[in-house]
Amino acid sequence: MKLHAIIKCAACLVLAAALTFAGEGKWTPQQVLQLDPAWLKKEGLQLPVSRLWDPQRGTGLLAAAVNIGGCSAGFVSSTGLILTNHHCLFSLLQEHSRPDRDLITNGFLARTPSEELPGKTTRVTVPRKFTDVTRIIEDTVRVSADDLARSKAIDAKQKSLVAECEKTPGARCRVAVFDGGLQYVLIESFELSDIRLVYAPPRAIGEFGGEIDNWMWPRHTGDFAMARAYKDGKPYQPEFYFPISKSGVKPGDFVMVLGYPGRTVRSLTAGEMADQRDYWFRLRADIYGEWIRILEETTKGDPAATIAVASTLKSLNNAAKNAQGQLAGLQRGRIIEKQAAREDAVISWAAQRPQYAKALAAKKELDGRAAERRKTATRDFLFQAIPNGPLALKHAATLVRLAAERIKPDMQRETDYMDRELPRLRDRLERDQKSFSLKADQAVFASYVNRALKLSPEEHIAAIDQMFSANVEQTVARLYSSTKVTSLDERLKMFCETTEQLRARRDPMLDLAFALEPELRAYQQESKTHDGAVARLRPEWRRAVIAHAGKPVAPDANGTLRVSFAHVKGYAPRDGVIYTPQTTLAGMLEKHTGEEPFNVPAIIRDAAATVNPEQVPLDFLADADTTGGNSGSPTVNGRGELVGLNFDRVWENVANDFGYNPDVARNVNVDIRFFLWLIKDVQKADNLLSELK
Ligand code: ASP
Repeated sequence: MKLHAIIKCAACLVLAAALTFAGEGKWTPQQVLQLDPAWLKKEGLQLPVSRLWDPQRGTGLLAAAVNIGGCSAGFVSSTGLILTNHHCLFSLLQEHSRPDRDLITNGFLARTPSEELPGKTTRVTVPRKFTDVTRIIEDTVRVSADDLARSKAIDAKQKSLVAECEKTPGARCRVAVFDGGLQYVLIESFELSDIRLVYAPPRAIGEFGGEIDNWMWPRHTGDFAMARAYKDGKPYQPEFYFPISKSGVKPGDFVMVLGYPGRTVRSLTAGEMADQRDYWFRLRADIYGEWIRILEETTKGDPAATIAVASTLKSLNNAAKNAQGQLAGLQRGRIIEKQAAREDAVISWAAQRPQYAKALAAKKELDGRAAERRKTATRDFLFQAIPNGPLALKHAATLVRLAAERIKPDMQRETDYMDRELPRLRDRLERDQKSFSLKADQAVFASYVNRALKLSPEEHIAAIDQMFSANVEQTVARLYSSTKVTSLDERLKMFCETTEQLRARRDPMLDLAFALEPELRAYQQESKTHDGAVARLRPEWRRAVIAHAGKPVAPDANGTLRVSFAHVKGYAPRDGVIYTPQTTLAGMLEKHTGEEPFNVPAIIRDAAATVNPEQVPLDFLADADTTGGNSGSPTVNGRGELVGLNFDRVWENVANDFGYNPDVARNVNVDIRFFLWLIKDVQKADNLLSELK
């Protein structure tokens, strides 16, 4: 891969590696090659760096870490076995659960491959080639005039690069944007779409401690599950996989966490960060919190409805508690204030250097834009929340948009509606039926409408104001009793219909989506204009920040393959308290109350009675730099052997999305020895053990 942005400063990078905090940085595979090998060796890496990533071939052991629907996972056998978190395969479990066969509660084990359970929408992508396309994109941008035109030009170029890339049989490609446009990389992956569930522990183990323990330490959760990837009906044979470590970990050991961190915001200005805090996270905590209460209340005592909303409820809970953790951490760590102080230092430094005049202007404009965007932040949040909100509204909006986009030439459509996306869009429309509960959906929809009706006059959503001017509850009930969008058969017919056909149905939910469409389009146009401005401004400002830092700076997370180098380590969460970094089965038994979410199943308690539970390691902490999306990331030792799986961060570290603090930067891993104990002593799954060797 060409690395022009990095190579420019390669000499200072190697020198400066030692200046970074050991754990800080979600490094791209290409950046790993730029780090000082002696420093990595000193940290604990026992493999040559080229085993992690071979510059000649552009692949390596890092590619055994794969993306599974927004989570991470790792191949652990030559027969396509994949380990990831229980919470990452939760929706696959939910897909196959019924009140009389509740896999969520009881867990699942396939004793033979023929018993494995396919996931309708579960897909794994394995990276195989990275190409720096920054120059190509920048050349496109130069010729475009205003911000909207710039954004559209970048979009069009990305689509054509992706189309070209996907001419390679089996390729699935994307252009990843780093730090708002500082670098663009074309990533060619291949996709495995036949993924089958092999093993998941009972929820009482996979989610032990539930929402009480989520984002907390000490932790005793067995958050793992296993699947198998198939290709052409046969177990997939990965080129790279992680052998399972036999020695485990102890405090101080070196580990690497490999995976696909989703989104961090460290490259934002302090002004933009404040915007994220005051709107994005506050609204998320508040609105998702309300939807959680609604889902719980409306499904209470109804086993089928409880299963239907289980997956949605779980992700809303996770996101809402995360939002609270971000808010608490920002305040406690004074992270935005620290960012502002760092910016002041860059500003004084850049003011002495005329070549950075544009960077200073860019920073000012970014802050100004953030202030401007606050004016419609609540409305924007509601628009962005449609995919996570009531299913009927999400489906209606999708179908109306699909009909409008489908008549355009493929390359002129919005990315989500291009031909390459339609099969998965249809799969999702179908799969969602398993998550639908009429009573719950209707109540969440009413909450959505009530929120929209309370918007200020500058933010109001006209389509909702008009349709719900009278009694909201009654109008919502009427709408749900007459819409056909909630019926799977009808929805699949609608999937193929034109705008005229959809209009002719006179379906009130579709009519609402038609009325919303111009407002949604206008909002998306504003967002594109903003993206175009960011692509113009952010790289200017970041170049000054990085030059001032004089050391390697890992880009913000963007869902691409990264590695973090770390050590097994405890921490001091507050004055007078020190946490040790490892927990055991003994601690799980100690937390057992017999009540959810601290209810250890009898089968585990019986097996525990035959061992010394203090000798069965369960979870451990490390100072890896992780975020959402790193769930399921293989945690490997210096020899590249699997010692655990990342599944969480500690409460004091949730706000590390905004900035790394070495004192509290701890990620939570489940120890592979607990998994081995479970499948050996509890499940007696000899088939799996022998496959894992
Ligand atoms: N538990 C997390 C997730 O949901 C992992 C993290 O954010 O650190 O992805």
